[in-house]
Amino acid sequence: MLNSAAQSLNTTTSLLKSRASKYAVYGVMIAFICIIIATLMVAHLEDRTITLDSIMKAQKNNFALWVLDFMPFIFALWGQYVSSIIAFQAGAEIIDQTSDLRAQTAVLEEKASHEATHDSLTDLPNRILLHDRLQQALSAAQRQKDKVAILIMDLDHFKEINDTLGHFNGDIILKQVATRLQGTIRDLDSVARLGGDEFAVLLPKVYGGQDAVMVAKKMQQALKPSFQISGLNLDVNASIGIAVFPEHGNDLDTLMQRAEVAMYAAKKEKAGYLSYSRQLDQYSPKRLTLMSELRQAIEQRQLLVYYQPKVEIKSRKVVELEALVRWPHPEHGLLPPDEFIPMAERTGLIKPLTFLVADEALKQLAAWTRDGHDLKVTINVSARVLLDPGFPDTLIGLLAAYRIEPGRLMLEITETTIMVDQERAMEVLQRLKEVKVRLSIDDFGTGYSSLAYLKQLPVHELKIDKSFVMNMDHNHDDAVIVKIIIELGHQLGLEITAEGVESESILSQLDALGCDIAQGYLISKPLPAGELMVLLDKYSWEINH
Ligand code: C2E
Ligand code: MG
Ligand code: MG
Repeated sequence: MLNSAAQSLNTTTSLLKSRASKYAVYGVMIAFICIIIATLMVAHLEDRTITLDSIMKAQKNNFALWVLDFMPFIFALWGQYVSSIIAFQAGAEIIDQTSDLRAQTAVLEEKASHEATHDSLTDLPNRILLHDRLQQALSAAQRQKDKVAILIMDLDHFKEINDTLGHFNGDIILKQVATRLQGTIRDLDSVARLGGDEFAVLLPKVYGGQDAVMVAKKMQQALKPSFQISGLNLDVNASIGIAVFPEHGNDLDTLMQRAEVAMYAAKKEKAGYLSYSRQLDQYSPKRLTLMSELRQAIEQRQLLVYYQPKVEIKSRKVVELEALVRWPHPEHGLLPPDEFIPMAERTGLIKPLTFLVADEALKQLAAWTRDGHDLKVTINVSARVLLDPGFPDTLIGLLAAYRIEPGRLMLEITETTIMVDQERAMEVLQRLKEVKVRLSIDDFGTGYSSLAYLKQLPVHELKIDKSFVMNMDHNHDDAVIVKIIIELGHQLGLEITAEGVESESILSQLDALGCDIAQGYLISKPLPAGELMVLLDKYSWEINH
């Protein structure tokens, strides 16, 4: 590059020189012509004729012609001098501009290479740079018989945080996570952002897996203090998967994939962090191939709706059935909603999915009603669907088509669903209230809604999250939380359902606390409509006739 610049500089300088010299030549020529004309005129004036003798005589005797004879030399010298100066000035300018350009190019090149290898939000190295560093670390470790560890970390429920507080605040959290993670590592190590809420830490030199576990603990510790966003104190948890060279793999792809598998396992098991082992392979994510299959399954109405009874505790009567979707997958068997609902939410498939469940559940309810059962159904509705302005009308259309009173349909929404866009949620909820569709706040106690806000919502029911209910007979804190939610709900004039009721002792504890409705494996697991009716007829849980 330098050579070509020098070459073009030379060409330009000589070109400029040649142009300038050309004008000097013109000057000399004009001077010669002037000398000739002046000599001829002098010869003619003095001798009245123009001959060689008269010309020679004029040149010999006329002082003015002598002066004139010097002109070509003066022009030549002056022209050459000026042209050289111009050429060198231009040359110098070109040199300046070229070095400026060169400096700018270097800055741009550096910027482009930084952008290509760094994440724009957090300025951490991105996946490309991490892979590069991991590859280098593996080559060095192979030579020196060292160990390398890679940790992959994914934030838990980050999508909900993002939906609830908006992408702007989600980005702030990601930046803060990046800063906190950087504080947990040595200079030698690297933190990278792999994309979304996934980060990685590379430890290029460790003595064994224990070192990586220590770093994973430090990372968890760093996330412990609440994040303060928009006046809220948010707890952000993460799941970390660890893979170590050479125990868990010899090459980059295997190590990355195994750290990811360990991370999924840690998430599923709520373990915080896990090191890879063969037993964890069952957790490897199938979600990528599932995406297109889910679209097809919805289009071909292959999804199933199971129903789980909700029982009035006082009368032990089944009053309501919660519709819960299932996907009978040809390879993976019957998939529970947790394995595909988050994906459906991300891809927008949640709308046709919810429509399918609502359509199926209302059709089934119409059939039960025809058979003389006095039942209601509830369906789960995610933020993306609830906030769709067309949603209330879709429901009204379905209710009319199956001739079902709107009061027999309840929608379960989570606290976070409402917080995504409070104003719009409030409008939709009001509209649903006007048409008399009932509303329940699902998984209550796990979200971030404020009590003051809850008071304004047109809801009918609070459903206590199963994580508090399931252990309330062993865990005093859980029992206190359940008690408080029941009291609070009743104060606000709401019905209270407890989900996750697995034992008689919990049911009687809930009864004593005045809880209205129970749902859980003690009564029945979610079942297909046909099986559920057989079971309910057989056992003592009375169906409302
Ligand atoms: P959810 O609405 O909180 O549903 C209750 C979940 O708790 C169900 O899991 C149910 O099987 C489970 N459960 C009920 N009783 C017990 C119990 O006694 N012990 C235990 N351990 N678990 C119990 P499921 O069916 O896997 O559904 C999980 C979640 O998937 C649901 O949580 C709901 O948020 C979502 N979901 C299910 N169907 C739909 C749907 O059609 N649309 C949307 N948007 N979400 C759905
Ligand atoms: Mg529910
Ligand atoms: Mg729930």
